[in-house]
Amino acid sequence: MRTDWDALTREVTACRACAELAATRQRVVVGDPGPGFQCDPGPGPRVRLAFVGEAPGAQEDAAGLPFVGKAGQLLDQLLQDSGMARADVAVLNVLKCRPPGNRRPSREEIARCRPYLERQLGLLQPQLVVALGLTAVAWFLSGGGAGAGRTTLAGARGVVHEARGYRVIATYHPSAAIRFGPSGAPLAALREDLDFAARVLAGVST
Ligand code: URA
Repeated sequence: MRTDWDALTREVTACRACAELAATRQRVVVGDPGPGFQCDPGPGPRVRLAFVGEAPGAQEDAAGLPFVGKAGQLLDQLLQDSGMARADVAVLNVLKCRPPGNRRPSREEIARCRPYLERQLGLLQPQLVVALGLTAVAWFLSGGGAGAGRTTLAGARGVVHEARGYRVIATYHPSAAIRFGPSGAPLAALREDLDFAARVLAGVST
């Protein structure tokens, strides 16, 4: 399994399907399967929790790693507050390359990158997915991404969706929590939703 992940990583790293992104990126941010994903433990989930964000930002593009900038630091803190640790989770994105200026990914970019996330999830088989922000939530719930369809974050929160073969919880992107500040609704919602995810994983809630 690890070798399958590594082969997929090589493929994603060499991808030039989106000409603009390939020309402007510094690094391809393939994603982090987490330290627990080292070998094939047999049937069943291979990682407990996977986060899926939108696309790398400037710091991720420079480092080649997902969620290492301000949004990632907030995510780490919130995970810790919910009794989980970044080291125990997989962290992935809908897009593997940074859109210039951090613009929203286009529908075409999301469609071209879709098979990579599908294959990553197929290898990791997460027990639970937390989709961060509307692009990731729409990727699971409506297929189009970039706010496609009638998916809204407010409407998607608070339940465990069965989507594309995974159990998915929808929540705000940490960037929204940063934008709206410490007393804004997105931060409170993120805390609530990560607590919910921790309870679901502990089997306390479904
Ligand atoms: N925002 C995302 O959606 N993903 C990252 O990796 C970093 C910031």
